Amino acid sequence: MAHLQEEKLRLQEELLALQEKLAARESEEIAASVQLRGQAQEIGRLRSEMGGTDAEKHRDLLAAENERLRQEMKAREGELRELRRQQAACRDCTHLQESAGLQERLCQLQREAEEARAKLAELELEVQQKTNRLAEVELRLKDSLAERAQEEERLSRRLRDSQETIASLRAQPQQIKYVIKTVEVESAKAKQALCESQSRNQYLQEQVGMQRQVLKEMEQQLQSSQKTAAQLRAQIAMYETELERAHGQMLEEMQAMEDEKNRAIEEAFSRAQVEMKAVHENLAGVRTNLLTLQPALRTLTHDYNSLKRQVRDFPLLLQETLRSARAEIGQAIEEVNSTNRELLRKYRRELQLRKKCHNELVRLKGNIRVFGRVRPITKEDGEGPEAVSAVTFDADDDAVLHLLHKGKQVSFELDKVFPPQASQEEVFQEVQALVTSCIDGYNVCIFAYGQTGAGKTYTMEGTSANPGINQRALQLLFSEVRSKAADWDYAISVSVAEIYNEALRDLLGKEPQEKLEIKLCPDGSGQLYVPGLTEFSVQSVEDINKVFEFGHVNRVTECTNLNEHSSRSHALLIVTVRGLDRSTGLRTTGKLNLVDLAGSERVGRSGAEGSRLREAQYINRSLSALGDVIYALRSRQGHVPFRNSKLTYLLQDSLSGDSKTLMMVQVSPAEKNSSETLCSLKFAERVRSVELGPVSRKAELVSWPSQEQLEGDLPGSSGRGHASPSPGLPSGRSTSIRRKLQTSGKLRPVPV
Ligand code: ADP
Ligand code: MG
Repeated sequence: MAHLQEEKLRLQEELLALQEKLAARESEEIAASVQLRGQAQEIGRLRSEMGGTDAEKHRDLLAAENERLRQEMKAREGELRELRRQQAACRDCTHLQESAGLQERLCQLQREAEEARAKLAELELEVQQKTNRLAEVELRLKDSLAERAQEEERLSRRLRDSQETIASLRAQPQQIKYVIKTVEVESAKAKQALCESQSRNQYLQEQVGMQRQVLKEMEQQLQSSQKTAAQLRAQIAMYETELERAHGQMLEEMQAMEDEKNRAIEEAFSRAQVEMKAVHENLAGVRTNLLTLQPALRTLTHDYNSLKRQVRDFPLLLQETLRSARAEIGQAIEEVNSTNRELLRKYRRELQLRKKCHNELVRLKGNIRVFGRVRPITKEDGEGPEAVSAVTFDADDDAVLHLLHKGKQVSFELDKVFPPQASQEEVFQEVQALVTSCIDGYNVCIFAYGQTGAGKTYTMEGTSANPGINQRALQLLFSEVRSKAADWDYAISVSVAEIYNEALRDLLGKEPQEKLEIKLCPDGSGQLYVPGLTEFSVQSVEDINKVFEFGHVNRVTECTNLNEHSSRSHALLIVTVRGLDRSTGLRTTGKLNLVDLAGSERVGRSGAEGSRLREAQYINRSLSALGDVIYALRSRQGHVPFRNSKLTYLLQDSLSGDSKTLMMVQVSPAEKNSSETLCSLKFAERVRSVELGPVSRKAELVSWPSQEQLEGDLPGSSGRGHASPSPGLPSGRSTSIRRKLQTSGKLRPVPV
C-alpha cells in the first residue's frame, strides 16, 4: 500500500512536472505565436510601406507623369511644327538660329526623358520582381503559421485527454497501478511528442530567422530602390524644370518672333505706302515726261531707221573698202617684190662683178705667186765662217734677194721676199687674201718648198706660241664665216694626209698605214676624189688643235724618226669650205690645200743607197712633177701633166682653172747651205718667170728641169737681168737647159 502510495506520489510529481512543462510549452507557444503575429503585422506593415501598394502607387504616379510628359511633348511638337511653319513663312527671321538651338535642346531633353523612361521601366520591373518574392515569403509564412496552429491544437487536445485520464485515475484508485503504467506509457509518448514538437519549434525558429534575414535584405533593397526612385524623381523634376524653361524660352522666342513679324509687316506696309506714293508721283512725272518725249521718240525713230539703212548698206561698203584695200596691199606687195627682185638681180650682178674684179685682180697679180722666206741663222748652223749669212736683201725692193755663192752674188726677183726678222703674222698678212678667196668658192694651194731645216714646217705649222699659216688660216676662215653668218651658212671640214714614197695615207683615218687611191668621181663631172679619206668637221680653234694633234699622233706612230720621216714626205692639210647663200640659194665649195713639202735637198747625189735612195728618188720626181705642172699651168699649156705624181694628181682640181697657188720658197741663209739655197731660189724663179699669156707651141715644149738639172743650171754673175727672162717666151736659158736635158736624157724621171 505504501508502495502504491509512493508510486502515486511519484506519478503525481511527474504529472506536476509534466503540467509545468506543458505550461512552459504553452507560454512558449504563446510567445512564439505573439512573435509570429508581430512578424505578420510587421510584414503587413512592410508590405503596406513598400512594394505592393507604395511601389505600385509610385509606378502609377510615374506612369501618369510619363503620360503627362508625353502629352506635353506632343503639344511641344505641335508648337514646333507651328514654329517651323512660321519660320517657313518668315525665312529672313533672325531668330532662326536661336530656334534651331532650342530645337536641338528640345531633342536633347526628349532623349533624356526617353532615357528616364527606360530607367523607370527597369525600376518598375524590379519592383514587380520584389513584390512577387514578398508574396512568396508571405505564403510560406502563412503555411508555417497554419502548421503551428494545427500542432498547438493537437497538443492541447492531448493535454486535455491526459488531464481527463488523470482525473479518472484519481477517481479510480484501485486501478491505479494499471493506470500508472498506462500513464507511464502515455507519458513516454508525450515525451516523444514533446521532443518532436521542440525540434519542430526549433526548425520553425530557424525559418523565422531566415525569413528575418530575407526581410532585412529586402528592406535594404527597398531602401536602395527608394533611393533610386528619389533620384529619378529628382531627375524627372529637373527635366521638368528644364522642359518648362525651354518651353518658356520657346514661348518667349515665339512671342519675340511674333512681335518681329508684326513689326516687319508694319514697316513693310508703311514702306510700301511710301513707295506707292512715290510711284504715284513718278507715274505722274512719267506721264508728263511721256508727253514731252513723244516728239523726241519720233526723231529717234527717224534716226534709228536711217541707222538701220546704214547697217544694211555697211557690208557692201565694207566689202568695197576691203576690195580696194586688198588691191592696194597687193599692189604694194607687188612693188616690194619687184623692188626685191631688182635688188636681188643687182646683188647677183654685183656679186658676179666682184668675183670678176677679184679674178681680174688675181689675174693681174698672177694666179701663181712665188714668195721667198729666209729663216734666221740658228744654233744648228754652228759657228764660224760656214754659219755666216750668205743672203742679203735689197733695201728698196722687198721682192729681191742676193745670194753669195762660191764668191759670186746672184740676185733673184720673186713676188715677195720675207727676211729672217719677218714675223709669222707678217707672212700671214700676205697670204690671207688667198685664204679668204677660198670662202668665195676658189681652190687654193699653198706650198712650202725648200731643203730640210729651211723653215717649211715653221712657216706652215709654227709653234703653239706662234702658230703658222695652217692655224691662222683656219682662224681667219672661222671669223670670216662668222661675219657672213647673217646671209650664209658655212661648213668647214678638214682632212690631214701625207704622201710618202708616192703612197697617199690618211692621217685622220683609223688605218693610217693604208694606202689610199685617187679616183675619178663616178658622176662624170671629171672631179677627183679619194675614197676613204677622213673629213672632220671643225667649228673652233679647239677642234683644229684636236685634229692636228690626232694627225700628229698618227704620223708619229707610223715612223721611227719623225724629223727624218717628215722631211721625206709631203704633209697635206686640206680644208674644205662649203657655203650656202640663204637669200639666193647659191652654193659654193672652196678648197684650201696647205702643203708642207718634203725636203728638196739632193740626197741622191751624195751616194745614198737602199731605202734612202728610193725616198730621194720619189721626192725628186714628185717635186719635179710639181714644177712641171706649175710651169704648164702658168704658161697655159694645153696639157698639164698632173698624173706624173700623186701630189699633183691629188691637187689637180686645186691647181687648175681659177685656182690660186702660192709657192713659199724657204731658204737657209747659212753659207754652208748656199748651194741648196741656190737650187731652191732657182726653182722659185723659174716657177715665177713663166710669163702669162696665150698658149704657145714653144711653151708646150718646155718641161720642168729635175732637181739635179736645177743645180747644173747655175746663173751667170749678171744678176737680176739674167734671172728674169723676157715676157712672152720661155727664157733662152730655159730652152737651152731643155735642149741640154733632152740630149743628155735627164728629162726622164729618175728610175726608182
Ligand atoms: P723644215 O721643216 O724646212 O725642215 P723647220 O721648219 O723644221 O725646217 O725649221 C728648222 C729650224 O729652224 C727649227 O728649229 C725652226 O724653229 C727654225 N726656224 C725656221 N724658220 C724660222 C724663222 N722664221 N724664225 C725662227 N726660227 C725658224
Ligand atoms: Mg719640216
